[in-house]
Amino acid sequence: MRRILVTGGAGFIGSNFIHYMLRCSDARLVTLDALTYAGLRENLEHLPDSSRHAFVHGDICDRELVWSIFDNHQIDTVVHFAAESHVDRSIVAPGRFIETNVVGTMNLLEAARNRWPDQAGYHRFHHVSTDEVYGTLEPEEPAFTESTPYDPSSPYSASKAASDHLVRAYHRTYGLPVTISNCSNNYGPRQLPEKLIPLTILRALRGEEIPVYGDGMQVRDWLYVDDHCGAINSILRGGREGETYNVGGGNQPANLSIVESICEILDELVGVQSKGPRESLITFVADRPGHDRRYAIDFSKIESELGWSPKETLEAGLRKTVKW
Ligand code: NAD
Repeated sequence: MRRILVTGGAGFIGSNFIHYMLRCSDARLVTLDALTYAGLRENLEHLPDSSRHAFVHGDICDRELVWSIFDNHQIDTVVHFAAESHVDRSIVAPGRFIETNVVGTMNLLEAARNRWPDQAGYHRFHHVSTDEVYGTLEPEEPAFTESTPYDPSSPYSASKAASDHLVRAYHRTYGLPVTISNCSNNYGPRQLPEKLIPLTILRALRGEEIPVYGDGMQVRDWLYVDDHCGAINSILRGGREGETYNVGGGNQPANLSIVESICEILDELVGVQSKGPRESLITFVADRPGHDRRYAIDFSKIESELGWSPKETLEAGLRKTVKW
C-alpha cells in the first residue's frame, strides 16, 4: 500500500487523480495544495473513500511544511502535479511560474532526497510534465518522442522544462528514484474555464461569442483526463526509475474542429438556439504571441513497456465533458 503525497490535488488533473486512485487502488493519499485560483476544495468532495485521503492547505515552496508532511504521513511516493499551468498567465506574469514550477519542485526533491536516505525499494518521485517542453512541430515533422530535444516557447513551458531537468539531475546525481511523464493536452471534468474546451462549452451554452485564437488551425493531441490518471498509475506500478514516458491520446484535431464539435454536441443535447446553430458564435481573435502551431506525441514507449493506451475516444470524451 503506497502512501502518496499528491501536490496540486485540488486542481484539474490532480483532483481527478485523487478520485481515480481512491477508486482503483488501495493507496493512502495526502493532497498538498495552496488553493490558488486554480485549486478548489469542492474538487475533492464526494470522494470514493475519503478515509484514505487527507488534505493539507499549503505551498510546495514551504520547506518546513513539506518536510513535516513526509514525516507525519510516512510518505513513500510523490506524484507532483502542483504548478502554475496557464500559458497566457505566464506571458503576462512569469515570476510565479518560476517560484512554483521550478523552486517548488526543487523543494520537493530536497525533501525526498533527505527523507529517503535509503532509496532502494519502494520510494518513487513521479513528476507530471507536459509535451509543451518539446516546442512546436512543422506539419511534416514526426511526433515528439522521449528523445526529442527540449525547445520550450512560453515562460510556462520553459519553467516545466527546467523542473524536468532538475528531476533528472536528482536521479543522476543522488540516485533519487524518479519517473517523469510528458503528457499532451488534457480535458474532462473539473477543468477551469480559462482553458479551450470548458471555455467553449460555457460560452456556447450561454449563447456568447466563442473566441478562437488566430485561424484556429493549431493542432494539439487531446487526452481524456482519466486516461492520464491511468497512465500515471501504470508508471507508478511498472515504470523504470530514471525513465521518461510520453503520454498522449492519439487524437490530433485542429482547435477549430474541437470548438465545432462542442457546438454540435450542445445543439444536439440542449437544442439549437433561436439565433441558429452555435457554430455561428465562433469569433477569430488575435493569436497568442509565440503560439506553438502543432504538437503530436508518440506514446509507443508506455504502450509497449507498460501496456497502457488511451481508452476514451475524443467524441465520447467530449460528450462526457459537456454533460459534466
Ligand atoms: P491546474 O492549474 O488545474 O492545477 C494546479 C493545482 O496546483 C491547483 O490546485 C493549485 O492550487 C495548485 N498549486 C499551484 N501553485 C501551488 C503551490 N505553490 N503550492 C501548492 N499548490 C499549488 O493544473 P492542471 O491542468 O491540473 O495541471 C496539473 C499538472 O499537469 C501541471 O504540472 C501541468 O504542468 C501538468 N500538465 C497539464 C496538462 C493539461 O492539459 N492541463 C497537460 C500536461 C501536463
